[in-house]
Amino acid sequence: EPVKINDFLNTVLLPYQELAVAEDKTFIIDLGEEQQLSFDKKRIHQLMIILLDNALKYTAQGERITVFSTVKNNEWSIKISDTGIGITDEKKTAVFERFYRGEESRNRKTGGYGIGLAIAKWIVDEHQGKIELTDTIPKGTTVILRFPVK
Ligand code: ATP
Repeated sequence: EPVKINDFLNTVLLPYQELAVAEDKTFIIDLGEEQQLSFDKKRIHQLMIILLDNALKYTAQGERITVFSTVKNNEWSIKISDTGIGITDEKKTAVFERFYRGEESRNRKTGGYGIGLAIAKWIVDEHQGKIELTDTIPKGTTVILRFPVK
């Protein structure tokens, strides 16, 4: 059933904002007009947790995390932008590729990239969406999510 996206996002984001502020990081929430969309609340919540955990983890004191959400042209886009340590181009693809290597790499003991973003990609795919990693200017990481609006 349809979900009010801003209500939903606020519920997800406010605890992270509190956490960020406690860690002396700026956390900006920038939501567009309220809309009702149909999606799997539990899964999208899970997805946001993965991305927000990373944003906080790789962003030092005094830095900034911004979450934008907007619906336009039949697309819901969510952008999680941080001014943290950033992510190299090589790693940008690797973090998603891991998933497709399957068993072999998952069993390997060498310090992998973790499974968070592979799960994130899976959830996004399940919703016919797109996930993209880009750089924040002048520094940091931005994750862009796009979902078709039915
Ligand atoms: P790990 O213990 O390796 O950090 P993880 O569960 O965080 O595991 P993922 O969520 O899949 O793993 O992230 C994969 C890798 O991508 C991370 O190890 C980190 O190097 C990089 N990464 C992810 N998000 C960010 C971010 N916001 N800023 C910088 N690097 C990031």
